[in-house]
Amino acid sequence: MDKCGDIFVQAMDEKLWQDFNAILKGRIKEIHFTTWHQQAKPISINNQGFRVAVPNRFVRDWIQENFLTELEACLQELKWDGAPIEIEVDETLDAKAPAPATDHPPRRTTPPSSSLNIPGTLLNPRYTFENFVVGSSNQFAHAACRAVAASPAQNYNPLFLYGGVGLGKTHLLNAIGQEIRKNSPEVRISYISSEQFMNKLVHSIRFDQMNQFRQTFRDSCDLLLIDDIQFIAGKERTQEEFFHTFDRLYNSQKQIVITSDRSPNDISKLEERLRSRFQWGLIADIQLPEMETRVAIIKKKAEAAHVNLPDEVALFLASTIKSNIRELEGSLVRLSAFASLLGQPITIQLAQEVLTSLIKDLADRLTIGQVQKVVAEFYQLRLADLLGKRRTRALAFPRQIAMYLCRKHIQASFPEIGHKFGGKDHSTVVHAVSKIRGCLEEDGELRRQLQTIESRLNL
Ligand code: ADP
Ligand code: MG
Repeated sequence: MDKCGDIFVQAMDEKLWQDFNAILKGRIKEIHFTTWHQQAKPISINNQGFRVAVPNRFVRDWIQENFLTELEACLQELKWDGAPIEIEVDETLDAKAPAPATDHPPRRTTPPSSSLNIPGTLLNPRYTFENFVVGSSNQFAHAACRAVAASPAQNYNPLFLYGGVGLGKTHLLNAIGQEIRKNSPEVRISYISSEQFMNKLVHSIRFDQMNQFRQTFRDSCDLLLIDDIQFIAGKERTQEEFFHTFDRLYNSQKQIVITSDRSPNDISKLEERLRSRFQWGLIADIQLPEMETRVAIIKKKAEAAHVNLPDEVALFLASTIKSNIRELEGSLVRLSAFASLLGQPITIQLAQEVLTSLIKDLADRLTIGQVQKVVAEFYQLRLADLLGKRRTRALAFPRQIAMYLCRKHIQASFPEIGHKFGGKDHSTVVHAVSKIRGCLEEDGELRRQLQTIESRLNL
């Protein structure tokens, strides 16, 4: 009887693992999925838990920092209600490699007890000020974060950090938390993404635990670090709750730090009272890092992971991947995994081989449809409206921006762009492109918006 039960559970495992991967594949970029699929081996996937092993800590951290939310979301989609995902390090997975490409002694396998749980509530120990590379693109934001960490709730409250995807916002947010905890261990820190804030809120409403929810965020919190606030756009109940949380903390002189992928003015469907509060303190933006900063970052990452990365390869990676540090780090993970599997050192040839598919992946993804989708998302419009005929400014301007970007980055012809924008005349496109060019010369805010959009397109 038991045996049959076991077989049944085993059979379920395989299906769950396959379904899980099928969903994940649709959610993340192909190249990331391939890396995950090559690296992660299921250990036990049944009603006891969802445990996978990866060959080293570097890969584990990379997955945790970039995809844990996606992994959790896949499980949610599968209506899985077992234990949270655990990612363990099992260095024997690497054992087939004749010689590791790293030059450090083998590390001890991480015991399962330190494996990872639901993200978000714990600060990430790797995201410290010491590990953050400062360059002119992030100097101001970094200084602001340092100042807040040195004297919370004194001068800059709230601190609002914004910038494109993968440029270090979450890193800095964690660094503030870490630093404050180091100086004053008694400080009660709530570190949460606005999406998790909303999920907790929904849960609390459903299970009649609002008192507890409010107690957690309003009364038992000395420092609120809230990541990716743009997510609450259009979520009225969450905004309402966040507004009261904000006011209570602010009035009790508690520091609040907020991150966002855009400035408060650019978050549409945000209540005015919140928008104005976000502007009470200091707003600091993070720009795209310049070449030298990218090289320094990738070298620092390699060093921390004990990966032997020659200078010329660091330069190659940094000049290939320009707009997103997360992608840059991903390329290092991929490269070091390959080197380790092949038992070869990391060389520029290997980097070229390994990254051809990555570069192709980046280039392949950029289609007119992709630009339209990202622009529509950025301005929170329906795609049908962006492509439609209505010419209110709220629609026409983003439409012109999308046309401009298609011209600039895809070099599509004017008639083709017109055709793909719901059959517009080519002269409409010519006009749009020259208009946006003109606006960009004068309007710094627009330049920043475009940078954000471009970084989402991985440009
Ligand atoms: P964001 O929250 O802005 O999308 P993250 O903070 O998650 O970006 O950063 C993405 C990755 O890039 C992280 O691994 C982070 O450590 C790294 N990173 C970004 N900027 C820097 C920097 N200036 N120095 C070191 N690492 C950085
Ligand atoms: Mg982030």
